[in-house]
Amino acid sequence: MHEITSRLIEKVRRTDPHQIEFHQTVTEFLSSIDKIIFDLPHIVHHRVLERLIEPERVVMFRVPWIDDDGVLQVHRGFRVQMNSALGPYKGGLRFHPSVNLSIMKFLAFEQTFKNSLTGLQMGGGKGGSDFDPKGKSDEEVMKFCQSFMTELNRHIGEDTDVPAGDIGVGSREIGFLFGQYKRLQNRFTGVLTGKGPAWGGSYMRPEATGYGLVYFAAAMMQDAKLSFDGKVCLVSGSGNVAQYTVEKLNALGAKVVTLSDSSGCIYDPEGINSEKLAYVKRLKNIARGRIAEYAEQYRGATYYPHVEVSSNQVWNFKADCAFPCATQNEIGVIDARNLVNNGVRLVAEGANMPTMAQAVHLLQEHGVLFAPSKAANAGGVAVSALEMAQNSARIQWTSEAVDLQLQKIMKGIYASASAAAERYSEKGNLVDGANIAGFLKVAHAMIDQGYV
Ligand code: GLU
Repeated sequence: MHEITSRLIEKVRRTDPHQIEFHQTVTEFLSSIDKIIFDLPHIVHHRVLERLIEPERVVMFRVPWIDDDGVLQVHRGFRVQMNSALGPYKGGLRFHPSVNLSIMKFLAFEQTFKNSLTGLQMGGGKGGSDFDPKGKSDEEVMKFCQSFMTELNRHIGEDTDVPAGDIGVGSREIGFLFGQYKRLQNRFTGVLTGKGPAWGGSYMRPEATGYGLVYFAAAMMQDAKLSFDGKVCLVSGSGNVAQYTVEKLNALGAKVVTLSDSSGCIYDPEGINSEKLAYVKRLKNIARGRIAEYAEQYRGATYYPHVEVSSNQVWNFKADCAFPCATQNEIGVIDARNLVNNGVRLVAEGANMPTMAQAVHLLQEHGVLFAPSKAANAGGVAVSALEMAQNSARIQWTSEAVDLQLQKIMKGIYASASAAAERYSEKGNLVDGANIAGFLKVAHAMIDQGYV
């Protein structure tokens, strides 16, 4: 690595020694930018990289709420407003016990380049809380969301910062958050995306991340003269992204044999067909149950509780393609080796940064087609931008119209990431391609806007 980039990595490590995930994402990003650093003297001159790694603003706040037993609980709330060069801050809210400043900064950093790649006008941000919605009653979740929004409302706005969902934040939470925002501000406005279609939401927003992921992967397959027809696929997670990934893979003739949650995974060699997927949607979205119940419902399937810390069972079945849709760092080096040994030819990331850097290198060395999350899972935020546009115009587009735009956007992202890979790195290296294409647009906008 060149001195400029290694000095910056060193600086991030020194300044915030505990922010492991943030170091990880900055290191991965700078390893790509390193390849073009001497072609970009003006970017170096204007110190764009130094400015990029520092969030424009970070808000941290206390979230007190009273549980069903009448006990006061206190959680920590965050909103990282990373970069507004291309538009209002945009990115989801994550409610999960693992949430901390490092995870928020890593997600907001990734989001900045992901949003840039969509070609739509959005800056990057992310927020959330260490609150765990799992096992909480609807009333507890509502009380928590109301308290969270009581602070957050003063920092967001349809032209300032527009949050959405992420892990632990789905349509139920967006509803409670939106209700409280409206009550505090007395304004019905597009301040959140992922709203219900009857009250300002866009059709296809729930489907967008999973469908977009498969559209992106299909474009890669097509370039490699392959198709999904008859392919066996591994999918991890069982939330929104995983569900709609399975739905679109089924529609293209693939067979998905796994799903997982934080307790374990199921393997169904017969495939998770549309009837079984409808069961998973009811189980996860309405009954809020565990994926283990799938194996009780469908006897041909086996449940494997997570035991090993160093490897994940989902990645140890014979398959052609893998779609990590659970969370960050779910594919380590051992998992990557398992994937290669089990015949996997394509890995497309539905979750944010699910594959660790060394695992990515191993997959690439073995010729596995690899789609990084900031390009491959951008369909969700892209349709969020379409929701913002519909809200501004006070209209609603049909599902078909949104789906067509989504397909066009995903093809566009694939085209710009592959073109940047070929021009600045090597053909097919979409990690470098996505980082460089996403970065150049943000960097030029920052230079145009002066030293801010
Ligand atoms: N949380 C999603 C992501 O990681 C969506 C963000 C949004 O729609 O604003 O991109």
